[in-house]
Amino acid sequence: RFAHVQQAPEDPIYGVTNAFLKDPSPVKVNLGVGAYRTEEGKPLVLNVVRKAEEQLLADKSRNKEYLPISGITHFSRLSAQLILGSDCPAIAEKRIVTAQCLSGTGCLRVGGEFLAKHYSGPKIIYIPATTWTNHFRIFPNAGMEARTYRYYDPKTKGLDYEGMMEDLRAAPSGAVVLLHACAHNPTGVDPTREQWAEIQHLVRDEKQLLPFFDSAYQGFASGSLDADAWAVRQFVNDGGETLVAQSYAKNMGLYGERVGALSVIVKDPDVALRIESQVNLVIRPMYSSPPTFGAAIVCTILGNKALYEEWKVELKGMADRIISMRHQLFDALKARATPGTWDHIVNQIGMFTYSGLSKEQVEYMKTEYHIHMTSDGRISMAGLNTRTVPQLADAIHAAVLQ
Ligand code: PMP
Repeated sequence: RFAHVQQAPEDPIYGVTNAFLKDPSPVKVNLGVGAYRTEEGKPLVLNVVRKAEEQLLADKSRNKEYLPISGITHFSRLSAQLILGSDCPAIAEKRIVTAQCLSGTGCLRVGGEFLAKHYSGPKIIYIPATTWTNHFRIFPNAGMEARTYRYYDPKTKGLDYEGMMEDLRAAPSGAVVLLHACAHNPTGVDPTREQWAEIQHLVRDEKQLLPFFDSAYQGFASGSLDADAWAVRQFVNDGGETLVAQSYAKNMGLYGERVGALSVIVKDPDVALRIESQVNLVIRPMYSSPPTFGAAIVCTILGNKALYEEWKVELKGMADRIISMRHQLFDALKARATPGTWDHIVNQIGMFTYSGLSKEQVEYMKTEYHIHMTSDGRISMAGLNTRTVPQLADAIHAAVLQ
């Protein structure tokens, strides 16, 4: 009764990792993976995370009981403060519901299903036409119709601002719009603050759209937690309804621990209480309650002044290494006088450079230089180091001259 089951297409990112693992070359480089790597190419467990783990393990009063459906209450409060700022009026006025979910993906999925069940506006979510590909699966699976708005302009390797505004203006009033809080994946292209202000005006005043922020890179983009939360705070502090999905995968390096927070910010504390009950009703039949340990690590770090300060330094260290890789790659291409403009390598923000290399060029670099990346030409800058930058620059140079 299962013989009809078709082979599902390979996930593009896992596909790159598989091809990388199969490549026998000793000089192979994986620039597909969306996870931080050290200069030595190794995964990084932050020192503050190690310290928090030690504290937690030493505490023999801890047990393995189930958490409440929406997770650790203290975690939710600390997470809301981290993304919105501790002085955020919505927190003081109890107009916010925050639930601990399974990393960013889980937050988007639970938030999507909550909207599909309870949102009074159109159950349509506008997603950037170029985006983290999982968005296109998460929301329809949650019961929302997914539509796209123009975002990236391959000609300028920047934001298609006019296209974005035109598409959002043409959306039905009240539709949901997914916005990357910062460090847009995969393009590394974010609106300027002036553009954000115009987007906010369109979303709030012209169209009454419901913003759903995906915040997967707070602190990881610029090195500053506050700067990377700027756009989210602008929207929440205008008093309008907003959803935020927060992930601790990148900024605390807790990828596999699956720690995230979904916040729904509304206008009235009574409404918030009722929403809380319904968010719980989405979660309960899905996975009952979230896991404990990762969220306990986050609570330990965010709840301890010394660890929090140390975290900020380590976070900035990761962000700075990525920025330095951008400059090294840019300089290496300049030194080779590689045809084309490469300013976008230093202008784009966050973990990725959306290089503009074609599918064929990516394939050529894989076979000739053992450099692996997704076929859209997205380079994970965190996968690079001082030793591999020249190899990548040689590969890009040769691919462009092909
Ligand atoms: N949103 C975006 C834009 C992402 O890039 C990612 C991670 N690649 C996520 C959400 C979710 O990641 P996670 O579920 O690991 O937190």
